[in-house]
Amino acid sequence: MAVCVETAAAELRDVYNSGKTRAYEWRVSQLKAMLKIAIHHEKEIIEALNSDLGKHEHEAFLHEIAAVRSACRMALKQLHRWMKPEKVKTSMTTFPSSAEIVSEPFGVTLVISTWNYPILLSLEPVIAAISAGNTVVLKPSEVASATSSTMSKLLGQYMDVSAVKVVEGGIQETSALLEQKWDKIFYTGNSKVGRVVLAAAAKHLTPVILELGGKCPTIVDSDINLTVAARRIISGKWGCNSGQTCVSPDYIITTKGYAAKLVDALSSELERFYGKDPVNSKDMSKIINSRHFERLSKLLDDEKVSGKIVIGGQRDEANLKIAPTVILDAPEDSLIMNEEIFGPLLPIITVNNIKDGINLITSKEKPLAAYVFTNDKKLKEEFVQRVSAGGIGVNEVTLHLAEDTLPFGGVGESGMGSYHGKFSFDAFSHKKPVLYRGFNGEISARYPPYTPRKLKFL
Ligand code: NAD
Repeated sequence: MAVCVETAAAELRDVYNSGKTRAYEWRVSQLKAMLKIAIHHEKEIIEALNSDLGKHEHEAFLHEIAAVRSACRMALKQLHRWMKPEKVKTSMTTFPSSAEIVSEPFGVTLVISTWNYPILLSLEPVIAAISAGNTVVLKPSEVASATSSTMSKLLGQYMDVSAVKVVEGGIQETSALLEQKWDKIFYTGNSKVGRVVLAAAAKHLTPVILELGGKCPTIVDSDINLTVAARRIISGKWGCNSGQTCVSPDYIITTKGYAAKLVDALSSELERFYGKDPVNSKDMSKIINSRHFERLSKLLDDEKVSGKIVIGGQRDEANLKIAPTVILDAPEDSLIMNEEIFGPLLPIITVNNIKDGINLITSKEKPLAAYVFTNDKKLKEEFVQRVSAGGIGVNEVTLHLAEDTLPFGGVGESGMGSYHGKFSFDAFSHKKPVLYRGFNGEISARYPPYTPRKLKFL
């Protein structure tokens, strides 16, 4: 395997050095090929996603296929503009001169992806790498094996395989890939492996984007439209891959006096969406595999929370399904409050004063996203100012990542670097400054011999 990876990396470097992938026409041809995959193979992709995650067709289309199409279309529409050198002003220091910033591809790039949105989180960074003129290896997650092999087949069929390659496999293959020299690495997954990626990249001084996770908090104030808030929380939690989503609300913070109302609203909206037997609802994804099912079961079986389940709790091990489950007043030292949940369980923490919620959030690692539901202008302002997170939603959850004008990425423990829209192109481009001068405009003060008179002149 190592030899194969080595050969692939060497071939990609030769192809990059040939200049082929820098051409606008090549980039466009590859973006069009990617768009064709997302249009002509919709059914096959939906089947793979269903096999891996039990994703409903609606979710598979909306969250993955439509998002890939939209990323391709945007890049196709904007590429010419993005590639243009950006003219910038110059100062008296370099007068007379002109300057520009040239977006240069990094070169040979590696995308290591994860399993929860295996199409989108693999193909969107590849679209970014291609748009910026790089060659790229995609290493999809072995955990979503059906989707991984579907992507390998389709990219092999449609893309220029001399410049865009897929290497399938797990730890062994990823480790072999990480031994090679890359010019940029884009990794999505957990922070433990993020550290492995960063350490491997350090050997070659390779810049890295780490799209990691964390516990995304959601403050719910009492002066809100509760039904709308409950629906949005449900949509961002259980309606996003059964909570197996990096930006899903991980836990809720509300006041002691308001918690019961919130639980009631969640309960009635959940029933409206998923019926009385949510474990068997086809609208809810399954848990990816038995390892994660057991991990989530452990969180529920923890004696510190088992008596505190106020909604759901039902499990179907054979079909890897867990009902939407809400836990009221999960203790700070319970397992569920000390690791990223990444599943359909939602603890609610209660505080005396809603502003205490902000202190609670800032006492923990920086999350990938943080949310607040409130009509209180001061609380909104304080939340935005004091909470450091990858992104923030006010009266909304998860939706900020659908906005192409906003960069998407983490901070601190939730990652580094960002992408989406033009930020994706920038993520895979070195911003090369170029200063142009002629042969006039000489100032003797810059040259020796250095005299006090020359210093005065400056
Ligand atoms: P995963 O198990 O698929 O691992 C991610 C990638 O790392 C895979 O390609 C895998 O082969 C590789 N890998 C795993 N162990 C490795 C090792 N020891 N050495 C080298 N490579 C290794 O996915 P996961 O980590 O379970 O993903 C879930 C995590 O990802 C959660 O924390 C979630 O929040 C985060 N996530 C973040 C984003 C984001 O955009 N920020 C999106 C989705 C998921």
